[in-house]
Amino acid sequence: GTDAPEAVIPFAQPGSLTRVYAVASGKGGVGKSSVTVNLAASLAKRGLSVGVVDADIYGHSVPRMLGVDDKPTQVDNMIMPPQSYGVKVISIGMFTPGNTPVVWRGPMLHRALQQFLADVWWGDLDVLLMDLPPGTGDVAISVAQLVPNAEILVVTTPQQAAAEVAERAGAIATQTHQQVVGVVENMSWLELPDGSRMELFGSGGGQAVSDALTKTLGARVPLLGQIPLDTRLREAGDAGAPIVLAQPDAPAAQALEKIAEGL
Ligand code: ADP
Repeated sequence: GTDAPEAVIPFAQPGSLTRVYAVASGKGGVGKSSVTVNLAASLAKRGLSVGVVDADIYGHSVPRMLGVDDKPTQVDNMIMPPQSYGVKVISIGMFTPGNTPVVWRGPMLHRALQQFLADVWWGDLDVLLMDLPPGTGDVAISVAQLVPNAEILVVTTPQQAAAEVAERAGAIATQTHQQVVGVVENMSWLELPDGSRMELFGSGGGQAVSDALTKTLGARVPLLGQIPLDTRLREAGDAGAPIVLAQPDAPAAQALEKIAEGL
């Protein structure tokens, strides 16, 4: 036929040394992108070669959170990703003019993802993080098909209702035969000036998802950490300098560092 041959995705080849993490959540707004960029920045700070694919079609907030303003360039037939803090970044938002909302459907998303994985000059990455859209939609399935060895990292809040949705996002691994590397609980509490913890969104969600997925998948899915609420985390994201770099002593930054260390 006239179709171009299937592009080769280096991360999916046997013997690839790149660890690929697909960062998933049930609902939006739980901090999935914030966790992704902070883990990326933390790993890069340790000297690892790190890339991020912003596959959150509806949110695509990764470039902003990493302070990336540059567009990708093209060299020969490869796309050169912009870099920030040593992290290579590619986002669907870089290929849409202005602030145009993305209304692509499944097959187009699949092709875009395939291009991000096959046609971007990533070099020899130690770690590739993929920020998925919330839920269990087309993109999660595409990632599973394109990079079957991608391990899922589930982000949830402590809220029980949120945890149930997050559990479904992780349980997709039973169908796709992927590994779930663990659960991150974000927005776990707010530390008050007197040192006490206010549990704004309740408690136990992260542990509940960990327990449920361990049971469903028949393999231990650990709770990797709990990240407190911290205004500085949001401010750092808004300013394009992740909190692990901007405020490394903040408890939220320390929690993220510990999670990155365990990956
Ligand atoms: P998602 O990717 O799940 O939609 P985001 O990472 O975009 O979520 O986070 C949603 C909003 O909440 C952002 O404004 C972000 O800065 C903020 N946020 C995330 N985690 C925290 C936290 N631990 N403390 C304070 N603000 C947070």
